[in-house]
Amino acid sequence: MYALIDCNNFYASCERAFNPALKLKPLVVLSNNDGCVIARSDEAKQLGIAMGAPYFKIKAEVAARGIEVRSSNYELYGDMSRRVMDILRRLAPSIEIYSIDEAFCDLTGLSSAALLELGRTMRETILQWTGIPTSVGIARTKTLAKAASKQAKLMGGVFAILDERERERLLQAMPLRRVWGIGRRLETSLENAGIFTAADLVRKDDAWIRRRMSITGLRTVHELRGIPCIDLDDQPASKLSITTSRMFGHPVHTIEELSQAVAHYVTRAAEKLRGEKRKTRYLDVFFHSSPFKSPYHAGRAAYALPAPTDFTPTLLQYAMAGVRAQYREGVAYTKAGIMLSDFVARGEEQLSLLQAPADEREETMMEMLDYINRRWGKHTMFYAGAGVQQGWSMKRNFRSPSYSTRLTDVLEIG
Ligand SMILES: [Mg+2]
Repeated sequence: MYALIDCNNFYASCERAFNPALKLKPLVVLSNNDGCVIARSDEAKQLGIAMGAPYFKIKAEVAARGIEVRSSNYELYGDMSRRVMDILRRLAPSIEIYSIDEAFCDLTGLSSAALLELGRTMRETILQWTGIPTSVGIARTKTLAKAASKQAKLMGGVFAILDERERERLLQAMPLRRVWGIGRRLETSLENAGIFTAADLVRKDDAWIRRRMSITGLRTVHELRGIPCIDLDDQPASKLSITTSRMFGHPVHTIEELSQAVAHYVTRAAEKLRGEKRKTRYLDVFFHSSPFKSPYHAGRAAYALPAPTDFTPTLLQYAMAGVRAQYREGVAYTKAGIMLSDFVARGEEQLSLLQAPADEREETMMEMLDYINRRWGKHTMFYAGAGVQQGWSMKRNFRSPSYSTRLTDVLEIG
């Protein structure tokens, strides 16, 4: 079973946590350079302020209706995010940060009553310790947990899909656009084929779905049917942030190994960033040991970058500085990760006066790197900083050799 914990109107809630005068007032948070709306309180949503609305267009309305406006403050949001995740880490055996304001917890093995109880405890503890309201969805797959969390948000609390009837009822009431991983374009094409709800979709046969929605879509449909099949790398991208983080195969003690793992995650995150044609202005590196073992240590360093970037070496430079600053000797680290947020679309970034414009050669270099790894497989070309041995990587002790794709694994006869 999975739980998805999603912070409600996260950026707006962070602003409110430190300024109670903002409670119950309509509030919007603007993207960098005060460009457009990236978060709204419920009250602002009710007034019809659209997500992504350019500020200059709604300025008059904002003033007339007394809507509070804040510029985004990623230092604050990053730190509040860390606090929320720290609380979850204490309460759940294993958490996986999905975005700046969402995390999955693996709760396999708990009874239905215990699941609901833990969900409520998570919600209450986070609210009490940080002031951030959350919605908790619990279900058998990540996609269903995500759907349950949306339901929880409507009802204000915790929602669990514990049996088949519940699942069917939810899918029937669920428009396609609310399904995790179904974008607007896919929604339109499915609607043209007469499919309007998640329930309509799961009734279609696999071959049809694969043709229309590719293998990624088929995974989503399986998940909606209650069969878990989305792993870390297949997760649909989050709009607010990119996170790559993973549990180590064995505890990591040295700064060299920790640096390698972090370098590997940075490379992956940067690749995703470029894939989405975005640049980042905020990098957050984190690593921690098991909260159930002493000495416990959670290291974290966050950097507001001087200019938006998607250049791996620049991101590596900051991440490595973070590792050096936060690493503690004698700690058995079990997990590390990277989170990028505060995005601008490539080509729309505002240049700083003090910053030379991005070097075209850097861009070409990254394009080549991504091309090679797409064409010849992940990790064909990688930064030496990420290490060659990768002893920290996931346990795969039972995996068969890569007979057909790896020269060292080719069968030998004789
Ligand atoms: Mg949220």
